[in-house]
Order: sequence, then C-alpha cells, then structure tokens
Amino acid sequence: MDLPNLHVSRHPAVLHKLALLRAETTEPKKFRELVREISWLVGYEALADARLRELRVRTPLEDTDGVELADRIGLIPILRAGLGMVDAMLELMPTAQVWHLGLFRDERTLRPVEYYNKLPDSATVELCLILDPMLATGGSATAAIEVLKKWGAARIKLLNLIAAPEGVEAVVAAHPDVPIYTAALDRQLNDKGYIMPGLGDAGDRQFGTGHSD
Ligand code: URA
Repeated sequence: MDLPNLHVSRHPAVLHKLALLRAETTEPKKFRELVREISWLVGYEALADARLRELRVRTPLEDTDGVELADRIGLIPILRAGLGMVDAMLELMPTAQVWHLGLFRDERTLRPVEYYNKLPDSATVELCLILDPMLATGGSATAAIEVLKKWGAARIKLLNLIAAPEGVEAVVAAHPDVPIYTAALDRQLNDKGYIMPGLGDAGDRQFGTGHSD
C-alpha cells in the first residue's frame, strides 16, 4: 500500500513492544503499559511536523534561543479503547485538551452512532489528534473525523496502534487530507471484523473484560 498520508512506524522499539502487545499471554496490566509506551512513540512520530514558536530562555549561564510548541492540541480518544492512549499523549503535550467521543456501531444500519461527545461548542485548537488503538473497518474513525470537521477542526491526525488495510482505505477514500499514524499495518479483517493477526479486542485486553474469541 503506497499512500503518502499513511505513516507506519519502523522504529525497533515500537516493533519490539508490538510483539509483546499482540501476545495472548500478556496480562491487562502489562498490556496497558505497552499501549501507553507505544502510544508515546507513535505520538512522537506524529508530532514531527508540529509548529513551533521561537522564544528566549535563560540558562544558568546566559540567554539563548529556544522554541515551544505553537499549536494548541486537542486529544480525542474514541471510547473506550482510546482511553489507554491519553496519558502517553498528555505526557508528550501536557497542555493538550482532552475531549471524549463515544461511538458505537448500529447493528441495523451498520453506521457508527455517537452516544457521548465532550467537544466544546466551537473549535478551540489548531490540531486534533484522534486516538483509537485499532483501525478496523474505518467506520468509527471516519465518523469521528466527520464530527470534528463539522465542528470546525482545522487539522486532524488519526493515531492508531494497529491498522487494517480495509480501514486505511476507508479513511483515505473519505478523508484524504487526514494523515494516519500507526505502529503496524496488519494483513486483513476477519469475518467478525477483527484485525488479523491483530491483538484481539483492545478494550477487553486493557480492561480485563473478556476474550477475543
Ligand atoms: N477493535 C478491536 O479492538 N480489535 C479488532 O481487531 C478490531 C476492532
């Protein structure tokens, strides 16, 4: 898949942690730590082109030039699996605002339905980062991007841990302007909508609520 807006990490630390994340023997506590660590690394890569503002800083010895992040950033975790990515992103960008967005799939229409939305009334940031560990069909990601665009978001990026080609294609087709950053691009979806080889259900594995089979 040759898509200029798709960024798949090749960093050895990410690849090492991904294998641990995928392993079915990885318990929720370790799984949450890995989600946090990989999110940090994917977030770091996603912010490589963040805008900077110049400033002067005084060291113990003299004044010197420095910079600070200029973009006001909004984090939009998609409930519930996206919650595990928030702390890492707040460590990277402590002043980011966090707006939770809850979407579920209507089994009749197969369309994502919004059930929780903590966005402020109008756009207050320059850059929105959507956080969702799994990009499967792309239904939730596409719906979240639509919500943010209607709301007035200027720049949007999608951050995932594992993406399926089907989900990437859906997002790129609907929103070619939204870059996707992911730790891995997997083979395909299975007939239940799980990413293969994947890691199972990212929500269940973080919160210890079930099994993926
Ligand atoms: N959501 C998950 O948590 N896992 C998948 O494989 C697909 C969607």
